Amino acid sequence: MIPDRDISQLREVLGPRRRIALLSHVNPDGDSIGSSLALYHFLRHHGHEVSVLVPNDLPAFLAWLPGAESIRVAKRDLPTAIRTVLEAEVIFFLDFNEASRLRELATPVQEHREAFTILIDHHPDPRIEASLVFSETRVSSTAELLYRVMKSLDPSPLECEEVAVNLYAGIMTDTGCFRYNAAYPGTWRSVAELVERGIDIDDIYARIYDNYSEHRMRLMGYALDQKMVILPDLHTGYIWLTKEELERYSYVTGDTEGFVNLPLSVEGIRFSALFLELGDRVKISFRSKGHFAVNEFSNRYFNGGGHRNAAGGECSLTMEETIDKFERLLKTYRDKI
Ligand code: 5GP
Ligand code: MN
Repeated sequence: MIPDRDISQLREVLGPRRRIALLSHVNPDGDSIGSSLALYHFLRHHGHEVSVLVPNDLPAFLAWLPGAESIRVAKRDLPTAIRTVLEAEVIFFLDFNEASRLRELATPVQEHREAFTILIDHHPDPRIEASLVFSETRVSSTAELLYRVMKSLDPSPLECEEVAVNLYAGIMTDTGCFRYNAAYPGTWRSVAELVERGIDIDDIYARIYDNYSEHRMRLMGYALDQKMVILPDLHTGYIWLTKEELERYSYVTGDTEGFVNLPLSVEGIRFSALFLELGDRVKISFRSKGHFAVNEFSNRYFNGGGHRNAAGGECSLTMEETIDKFERLLKTYRDKI
């Protein structure tokens, strides 16, 4: 599945000790952070100098992952982050398919022509230039694909326990604990190897999913009780939260993780959305069950993208206008959802 020629080229590039930057997408999630940190440990184990960069803060439920303390957040110190990119000889792009997902780091990356760049990603239609591309959509996650790439380079990539823990966290979160995106049998084989490595899967689960604040749980209760709109005729449900409401529940990044899936648990609902008023725009998440391609919907109307059943986008209209636009669009999609 992974061409030998690409692995040989990668092996050659990683022959000498290299200065390497690992970049993943804005609003980092378990897969982007898990993949970045697994690769961080793997490359350091092989003697390289490695920096991990993300455009903005990671959620607290990922901050315990082994190596997370070394992550540099570009938004906190942009000049240093840009310098790190420009000084890298090799740059990995992990878990995204277009440069705009790098926000302020997109321009320095595109200007730094001498670097050897490698994309490892599972989103459809990569629209980012790279010297080497590992793009596979049937895998569950970037972490799973990365594991495959690492195994081709080194027969025992899990020698380092930190690699196994981070890969498992990436696969677990991107599949919603193996509920979706996990129909490919190879995913389970890879996971079996991680479990065989002796990682503590109960502990990883608890640190990610049983580690929320009381505020987050109460915000979820409020969102479900007061802010969830169910449109049975359109097989659609959505939740919307304003800046004032988020502040009322002392919102921090990561607190609304998973909220977008909640309307899909209502019988007959096949399309769901979450609207969050963050900064000067409305950040939107979309999920679907079955054939309705939310990445296309998001790309067409909300400047976004993602996977067929899980995508995101944004809107610079007000919350009311955004929801109005969404509801009007829904009516035109009546037969397609
Ligand atoms: P989430 O809703 O969890 O933020 O994102 C779901 C999926 O959509 C992820 O695969 C993520 O990479 C992608 N995604 C989220 N927001 C955006 C966006 O603004 N633009 C694009 N192109 N993809 C997004
Ligand atoms: Mn992913």
